[in-house]
Amino acid sequence: MNVLIVEDEKSLADEIASYLKKEGFLCDLAYTGADASEKIAVNLYDFVLLDLGLPDYNGLDLIREARKNNIDVSFIIITARGAVEDRVKGLDIGADDYLPKPFALAELHARIMAVARRKFQIGSPDIKLGEFVMDIRGRKLMYSDKEVEITKKEFDLLHYLAINHDKVLARHQLYEHIWGNALDDQYDSNFIDVHIKNLRKKLSAWAPAPWLETVRGVGYRISTDS
Ligand code: CA
Repeated sequence: MNVLIVEDEKSLADEIASYLKKEGFLCDLAYTGADASEKIAVNLYDFVLLDLGLPDYNGLDLIREARKNNIDVSFIIITARGAVEDRVKGLDIGADDYLPKPFALAELHARIMAVARRKFQIGSPDIKLGEFVMDIRGRKLMYSDKEVEITKKEFDLLHYLAINHDKVLARHQLYEHIWGNALDDQYDSNFIDVHIKNLRKKLSAWAPAPWLETVRGVGYRISTDS
């Protein structure tokens, strides 16, 4: 998962980043609100850990900005400001959770995973894809009560595309989400194509899957129209 850490206290930001990287997250850092605003507009993050007290910005404005621009990212507020109003305001305008400083890194991780479970609908009802059904709880792909054998990574790929249905996801976005680190060359980019190709082959043994679309030059999309 892709996380942006917005925190002007550099040592804390770095500490959080090195912890989350060890947990398999891909982390970006922003020490100012302006930098954060630009990064949120350009990159696709799953989470933003947001310190409200920034030198150049009221952190709450970053949430408002993202919501206004329809950017689908989860905010977890981390702040020393214990004021109840800030917390309420933050949750009111769409923050997903709130963690007062100081906090244990393990607790931060637990909060992220709790939000992720809601966001990625882990344990939620099944997702229908054409004639297939994703059993999210059982992490299985079904075709009329029979299990379609796909790998865990293929399931994750399909799941991530399904959650973001009707949006085109670039290869690097898929790669970063599933494998948790950045793409660095053409070889890695082909890697996603190979996974999609294998997946299509497995699906086509059961039924056509026109909903899994290749968007030339960009990436892949699950379309809910077909
Ligand atoms: Ca601060």
